[in-house]
Amino acid sequence: MTNNLLDYDLEGLTAFCEQLGEKRFRATQLFRWIHQKGAADFEQMTDLAKSLREKLAGSAHVQGPTVVSRHESTDGTIKWLFDVGAGDVIETVFIPEADRGTLCISSQAGCAVGCRFCSTGHQGFSRNLTTGEIISQLWFAEHFLRQHLGRDERVISNVVMMGMGEPLQNYSQLVPALKVMLDDHGYGLSRRRVTVSTSGVVPMIDRLAKDCPVALAVSLHAPQDTLRDNLVPLNKKYPIAELLQACARYQTAAPRDFITFEYCMLDGVNDQPEHAAQLVALMKTHAINGLSCKFNLIPFNPFPASGLTRSDMSQVMVFAKILMDAGIVTTVRKTRGDDIDAACGQLAGDVQDRTGVDQRMAAQRQGMLGGIKVVVKV
Ligand code: SF4
Repeated sequence: MTNNLLDYDLEGLTAFCEQLGEKRFRATQLFRWIHQKGAADFEQMTDLAKSLREKLAGSAHVQGPTVVSRHESTDGTIKWLFDVGAGDVIETVFIPEADRGTLCISSQAGCAVGCRFCSTGHQGFSRNLTTGEIISQLWFAEHFLRQHLGRDERVISNVVMMGMGEPLQNYSQLVPALKVMLDDHGYGLSRRRVTVSTSGVVPMIDRLAKDCPVALAVSLHAPQDTLRDNLVPLNKKYPIAELLQACARYQTAAPRDFITFEYCMLDGVNDQPEHAAQLVALMKTHAINGLSCKFNLIPFNPFPASGLTRSDMSQVMVFAKILMDAGIVTTVRKTRGDDIDAACGQLAGDVQDRTGVDQRMAAQRQGMLGGIKVVVKV
């Protein structure tokens, strides 16, 4: 089995070329061919010596993802389903906007965190993706889109690690992939245009601050621990105060940046004015430690097994106003790709619930917090 060169950042590719007895600059040439030109065939790489092309043909390959399907929404959103073997599929979504093109990338097949409002969480965890499987989503989408849209210049300007999986639970494979995205010889994306979204893996937030401080988004979804324990089970291990302290520390590595807090609006669960007031108080407390943040309110995308429903838009706007009146920058996410199930929280793929997590979540719903209304959809 030869090496898939998509598994390497530039440092790794340099080490690989040195093993082949090649000079370091050859790695840079090769890296540019692969990531900037989308080349997978070494014979295309005409400025590499023939002897090197022959060595590469015998020891390496460039293997992109296997496409199962592609769906295009009426709003231009494109969702790909990729086969990553052993019955696992992952999803990647391209979201075009007037001033940017954003690619939402998966980091795991399934997810172990099991957030209640997330259909991936209901699917259970299968395995971590390799660096090559993570970066190949960008490699494939960028070069597909250039052809599809007939463009020579870059199409994808932003990457968000918000697809399937908790990226910080796949840290060792994630970081080299991020480095390829940022590398000027790779995709040359600025640090602020690459976002890692986490449910709050505190020790890994601290490591990311040192290793690769890209933009950070945190799935908060509740203003207090009892409610968050129920919605984001990882909260039992890393409660809100610890998480917000880690966010404030993260900002010492990226001082001019905001942390984005994602807040999925669930009807009658976390969307009441008192929840907004609790959030304001929470953010004021942590602002003292240097935390600066913005909120992104996300209309929930219902799926049958969740037992949850989307907040009414008037409720979302009341909630947003309370945050904004307190001086917190707040946006309401526009739902994209609804007609192809590409919207946030809908990326479950056509896979089975392997772990019985649906049954566990149904049981959890019965024990939902006293005093908090849960609308159960039958
Ligand atoms: S929201 Fe993210 S961390 Fe939570 S279950 Fe879904 S994919 Fe996993």
